[in-house]
Amino acid sequence: MAFESLSDRLSDIFQNLSGKGKLSEEDVNLALKEVRMALLEADVNFKLVKDFIAKVKESAIGEEVFSSLSPAQTVIKIVRDELTKMMGEENTELKLRPQSEITVLMMVGLQGAGKTTTAAKLAGKFQKQHRKPLLVACDIYRPAAIEQLRVNAEKLSIPFFSLGNQVKPEEIAKKAYEEAKAKGYNLLILDTAGRLQIDDALMEELKRMKSAVPVDWTILTVDAMTGQEAVNVAESFSKEVGVNGVILSKCDGDTRGGAALSIKAMTGQPILYLGMGEKLSDLEPFYPDRMAGRILG
Ligand code: GDP
Repeated sequence: MAFESLSDRLSDIFQNLSGKGKLSEEDVNLALKEVRMALLEADVNFKLVKDFIAKVKESAIGEEVFSSLSPAQTVIKIVRDELTKMMGEENTELKLRPQSEITVLMMVGLQGAGKTTTAAKLAGKFQKQHRKPLLVACDIYRPAAIEQLRVNAEKLSIPFFSLGNQVKPEEIAKKAYEEAKAKGYNLLILDTAGRLQIDDALMEELKRMKSAVPVDWTILTVDAMTGQEAVNVAESFSKEVGVNGVILSKCDGDTRGGAALSIKAMTGQPILYLGMGEKLSDLEPFYPDRMAGRILG
């Protein structure tokens, strides 16, 4: 890791302060400057960092930091607990309807974010839990996307539904829903088109799809490596189409994961899973406390 860990940085600071006994506001400020830098390096949104520091400062001044054996660890604990709280504390589960009903997941996101891969990962995960998924290709603009979903479905022996690229996505979704009803599938996973950038036509298409079938979860996949940009994407999709869960892909890279914190704080939507690689089994639950540790380094 290219960064010095926050723990080391704080230890250095407190080393110089040791023997002074009481922690003054000035000392707290000095320590929080390091915390601030660590968060910014981890790609946490700067406005969020400002609010966060103000909050932590309040709790840190009240604490008997120096009466503990390790002041650095005490400050880190305060910061880590606060970060965890901001990310929702508990892991949020993607709850499905009862087996007797059809749950519809609509996968959204920008092109290249990992949407198609994640659709297959989710199908595989729920198939293991004895659900009956149907993977539906609604990205009619990129022939490669249809083929990619088909290949992934085949790898997992999961049924795949496509009407080619001449039928409108909302029509495909409707037909897939009928197919699910007729054949007893109870988890419809709609892979939708992405664009390189947020665009109105895409948002309108997603809204039409949502009116065509009863979507339970609109799941946004964002690339964790894109940092601040991931937050902008999450805000736009939340505002335009409505999102009720986020999957952060490519967390196997060396990103510190500040996007997780910012997305939760700025959109209010929970992070459901982390993509941890290209393999279809590389999907992990999101644990806020672990992410807090990763953000702090
Ligand atoms: P889409 O355009 O959003 O559907 O994105 P794709 O599913 O086609 O993924 C784009 C690229 O990212 C592919 O090469 C995937 O293998 C890769 N990818 C997806 N998820 C992950 C992940 O969690 N980690 C890594 N390392 N690569 C991923």
